[in-house]
Amino acid sequence: MWRAAAVRALRGAPGAGAPRAASGAAAAQLRRRLESELEEIRGAGTWKSERVISSRQGPHLQLAGGGAGIINFCANNYLGLSSHPEVIRAAVEALEKFGAGLSSVRFICGTQSIHKDLEEKIARFHQREDAILYASCFDANAGIFEALLTPEDAVLSDELNHASIIDGIRLCKANKYRYKHMDMQDLEAKLKEAQKHRLRLVATDGAFSMDGDIAPLREICQLAHKYDALVFIDECHATGFLGPNGRGTDELLGVMDKVTIINSTLGKALGGAAGGYTTGPKPLIDLLRQRSRPYLFSNSLPPAVVGCASKALDLLMESNAIAQSMAAKTQRFRSKMTAAGFTISGKDHPICPVMLGDARLASVMAEDMLNRGIYVIGFSYPVVPKGKARIRVQISAVHSDEDIDRCVEAFTQVGRKHGALP
Ligand code: PLP
Repeated sequence: MWRAAAVRALRGAPGAGAPRAASGAAAAQLRRRLESELEEIRGAGTWKSERVISSRQGPHLQLAGGGAGIINFCANNYLGLSSHPEVIRAAVEALEKFGAGLSSVRFICGTQSIHKDLEEKIARFHQREDAILYASCFDANAGIFEALLTPEDAVLSDELNHASIIDGIRLCKANKYRYKHMDMQDLEAKLKEAQKHRLRLVATDGAFSMDGDIAPLREICQLAHKYDALVFIDECHATGFLGPNGRGTDELLGVMDKVTIINSTLGKALGGAAGGYTTGPKPLIDLLRQRSRPYLFSNSLPPAVVGCASKALDLLMESNAIAQSMAAKTQRFRSKMTAAGFTISGKDHPICPVMLGDARLASVMAEDMLNRGIYVIGFSYPVVPKGKARIRVQISAVHSDEDIDRCVEAFTQVGRKHGALP
């Protein structure tokens, strides 16, 4: 054995299980190109490293290689359902009853009763006619515009929409208009220009994840009515906790009957496992089942994932107490941080960007926060505009008041130490 291994080592051949590098000039050229591109990313200071967590997702985390009891302020676990005991139990039950997965797309042999039940529940939750599941909201956004819009139509998109909306729009052949972020004058000008097309669809995030600001949906719906357009919203950062019953931005702003199409995720407030969906008029959902490529050509959601989301929706539909619990926590953090001298972007949203301006300051402060047991992340260009670096704090309903106060205290100390506060 050792002799064979020694011979392999001398010849440079990979041992059992060792990675094999492809040989040949093209592979070598590719490797050089990739390495130089990676070096550029590092050089630009935009390298995204991943911290490894060795516990469940939750307000308190254990990081691999030490770091127990870290208070987590950077997950989209808005309602704390990612590790809720009933959500976990529902996943285990679905796994045992329906198996690990479907080994199939939905229309071949991948639809189980739980998929139909969840789609019905999502539609009921949002008070829409029907719903369709996807492997992710990224897929839902990739699949809708191409299926719905033709070269005769137009789509009008907020310039700061999520990458998946931008990519989804790129895939469709409709006429594309980009309006300035939440700028209703600009939207109106673009809607006037788009009158020549057969159908107009205004597409916006309900809540914008980098700034914690909420789209002016009332005004958008008024303009849509005036210029005969449809409204599409991406509710990934709203479903489950915005509005009196957590239905989202449309409920918060009183326009549930004016928004035509909602895309959202099961991977954030609704249990945090994975999955996405579109909900809206039945003929639209029927058409997506026939034409939407990420739905048609990708595996069905695994039963355990369906079980998590289904239970999360049950909990939200039983009582609005969970959805309501967010607001007071968010308010506590925002007001204490403002009193300490920080500028927090957005309004009333659990995404609380602590605006710092300088990219290095954001990164150094985030690192120092972790040294004090608070896990937050700094964002800088190109994720946010130049000069608008920030640390994004995300409040969860399961943070205790003490967790929030400790976070504010650490920010105050770190801010003073690095010159962000006087
Ligand atoms: N849309 C928005 C606004 C998001 O923030 C995200 C995820 O970060 C997505 C879509 C994609 O959601 P998913 O993780 O389900 O693919």
